[in-house]
Amino acid sequence: MTDCGCEKARRDLEEYLRHEVCKTQSSDIAEHLENCTNCRDEALVSRTLTEVVARACKESAPEELRDQVLAKLRAVQATH
Ligand SMILES: [Zn+2]
Repeated sequence: MTDCGCEKARRDLEEYLRHEVCKTQSSDIAEHLENCTNCRDEALVSRTLTEVVARACKESAPEELRDQVLAKLRAVQATH
């Protein structure tokens, strides 16, 4: 097992979710997420956030709505 550790997983999480990390790194992070509940929650929140914001941008949602979504997701994140 070559768990990359929480620090690296968190650092690369954003890139990982945007599929910007190379394949080797990406599988390291995927493996870490399998084994680490905290990082998995973090990844889930980040992924949801990315999707929601992407959708909001596409539909040109007002800034206000985007802020509400962000606030909600931060609240979810804060409970972990
Ligand atoms: Zn972790």
